[in-house]
Amino acid sequence: MKVTKFGGSSVASAEQIKKVANIVKADPQRKFIVVSAPGKRFKKDKKITDMLIELGEIGRKHRPKAEYIEPIMKRFTEIVEELKLGGTILKEINQTIENVLHMDATPSEKLEALKAIGEDSSAKILSAYLTSIGIPARYMNPQEVGIIVSNNPGNARILPESFPKIYNLRTTEDILIIPGFFGYTKKGQLNTFSRGGSDITGSIIAAGIKADLYENYTDVDCVYSVNPAYIEKPKKITTLTYKEMRELSYAGFSVFHDEALIPAFKEEIPVCIKNTNNPKAPGTLIVSEKKPSEKCVVGIASDTGFCSIYISKYLMNREIGFGRKLFAILEDEGISFEHAPSGIDDMSVIIRESNLPLEKEKLVMERIQHELNPDLISIHRNLAMIMVVGEGLVRTIGVAQKATAAISNANVNIEMINQGSSEVSMMFGIKAEDLDRAVKSLYHTFFD
Ligand code: ASP
Repeated sequence: MKVTKFGGSSVASAEQIKKVANIVKADPQRKFIVVSAPGKRFKKDKKITDMLIELGEIGRKHRPKAEYIEPIMKRFTEIVEELKLGGTILKEINQTIENVLHMDATPSEKLEALKAIGEDSSAKILSAYLTSIGIPARYMNPQEVGIIVSNNPGNARILPESFPKIYNLRTTEDILIIPGFFGYTKKGQLNTFSRGGSDITGSIIAAGIKADLYENYTDVDCVYSVNPAYIEKPKKITTLTYKEMRELSYAGFSVFHDEALIPAFKEEIPVCIKNTNNPKAPGTLIVSEKKPSEKCVVGIASDTGFCSIYISKYLMNREIGFGRKLFAILEDEGISFEHAPSGIDDMSVIIRESNLPLEKEKLVMERIQHELNPDLISIHRNLAMIMVVGEGLVRTIGVAQKATAAISNANVNIEMINQGSSEVSMMFGIKAEDLDRAVKSLYHTFFD
């Protein structure tokens, strides 16, 4: 049995939905189909989910609701008419939007319900289309599926009691079309996962029914060894381990949601990244273990938008509780940190800049100064992180030497190095303006 998930670009238009139908039809093992909301058809296009969020937030602006509903309905109308599905489905979508806008609920509950309409409508449209071409398909709401989640609007987590319920769906004769991105709390409240969360639904269903494979259809042929924005036609990755994928998706590889790996990983279900626009391409397979190969580095990931707080205090190593007090300040201020490399008398904490806006920076720095009394404290913004990723890193001699040489050949200064704690990656902090040069040089060193 396979669980097959189609992303936003795969259901963005009638033409794309026809491709989806062909993929579903081509393999009788594809019994569980999970869909996203219609995404972008071209670069400057809008995602339906973003349009629904805007509609949910108009309370704060003073523009008529109709101005927001109209473009949403226009997108759905184009799809439904081109698929020749008749008007009932459109009336249903419109009615759902109106019902949510008029329901007796808090603004946050309404926003959650609106956000889910994109995936919900996609699933209804796909199941109607499959039925219209003679494929026995049935829409199934996540509540009926048994996706029970924690009460965290916009960041829901799956609860373990969901899985046995989902397992019972294995006997289905029809193809089930399930909207991604949301579930229901024990009290029956709709809660969405974090953005891009349809991948998470797919993984939950795959783990629940103990699928043989979780196929994730997107708009790229595979996972590439580096972001194609830096290198033209980079090497394709055929197989990755879950750990490698986790490290890559942490730093800029956005083909697969990082939270989506967890359910598949726990049940050891292989995940295959495929392309709806080129289904013949073999894609990238993500597995728990792979044969050791001579290539120890599989990919080079990178991301910008980091900052680092540097703290130095003589005899820091002997001061019991120094680290705890520092992290307690971050916890109090609601700031999550990414890495914390340390020396004998120094410590740096790397934070995503979005988690430390300038207003908070002043307060945090003052608290550190006052509560920890360091000799020196400074903050560095505009940093980028590069991750050199591969299961073979720990057992291969000379990777660090090769990587640092590549960065120095690009005339880039390394602000920070972090290995040790991760077995599958080596991380370098550099100035964001140097990123392009450093990534290119690393790629040529490890892949040419
Ligand atoms: N439609 C949702 C989003 O745009 C979830 C998804 O596409 O996976 O975030």
